[in-house]
Amino acid sequence: MPYTIPNLPRIQRALLKWHDADGMHAPWRDSRDPYEALVAAVMAQQTQMSRVMVLYERFIAAFPTVEALAAASVGDVIRVWKGMGYNQRAVRLHNAARTIVRDGWPQDAASLATIDGVGPFTAAIIASYAFNQPAACVDTNVVRILTRLAGDETLGGKRLQDLADACMTGPAAAEPARWNQTLMDYGARICTSRPKCNECVVSKYCATYTRAQTPGGEVPHLSPKLVADTRTPYRMRPTTDDRQPKTKFEHTPRYFRGRIIDALRDLPPGKTFRIEDLPARIANEVTPAADEVEAWVTALEKSGLIERRGNRLRLPH
Ligand code: SF4
Repeated sequence: MPYTIPNLPRIQRALLKWHDADGMHAPWRDSRDPYEALVAAVMAQQTQMSRVMVLYERFIAAFPTVEALAAASVGDVIRVWKGMGYNQRAVRLHNAARTIVRDGWPQDAASLATIDGVGPFTAAIIASYAFNQPAACVDTNVVRILTRLAGDETLGGKRLQDLADACMTGPAAAEPARWNQTLMDYGARICTSRPKCNECVVSKYCATYTRAQTPGGEVPHLSPKLVADTRTPYRMRPTTDDRQPKTKFEHTPRYFRGRIIDALRDLPPGKTFRIEDLPARIANEVTPAADEVEAWVTALEKSGLIERRGNRLRLPH
């Protein structure tokens, strides 16, 4: 049986009203341009919104249209992506732009999601923002609020998407972009990992909150004491992983792969350097071994992030 949330129309009205007063404003939210929605959605997936706000403007200034992005070289896109992290997204975004310029914009979420580089979340953002389609997007913020309202924080996969779709009805379906934005903002600001239930406009309809107020209710992060005492720093119980000694990020392959891209990004377009020079260029207190560097270079080349000609490296043309 599909999950539902009791009192859904009341919840929708209360959350949309909250969004009128406290929702986030962003250039791509005030636009019906599918390209702006595409860029913002790809950026927002693994980067904090405050950072996206700044870097989005720079990206749109460099590539103002999907045609401009498609016509650029991958190397130029990776250069402008500087500061965003997860550089693979720049390659995927570039691929998506080329497909869209070749085939045109699909108008619905299912067709958008078939484009290489556009996943279900990005497809739902574009379909709702630009084409006013009732496509429910699900990110970590949306997951938190919906599963808590439903009273089952273990919900995932298809059942979670079904729940999100079931909530995209009535006033939400009339304004799908605004509903998606409302859930994302509410999960980011109020229904956070340590939720601000005392400020919540839908607490009286929230199954998880109601259970937490009941003697014997087992919801550690919503215990009445924690919810009431906002001064106490909240930390989820450590997982097994948390208790393991952590490898310093600056010593990880991911860090060094990023440093390789940074080193190539700093070169003038068309310039190259030798793979043998890489260990010295990317070293910190650790100088990586030549075989490690070779493995990282091979992985980056396979991902389309760098090009190798003989022993020389550069960003792709
Ligand atoms: S009452 Fe608390 S847990 Fe429930 S939706 Fe509101 S903020 Fe989230």
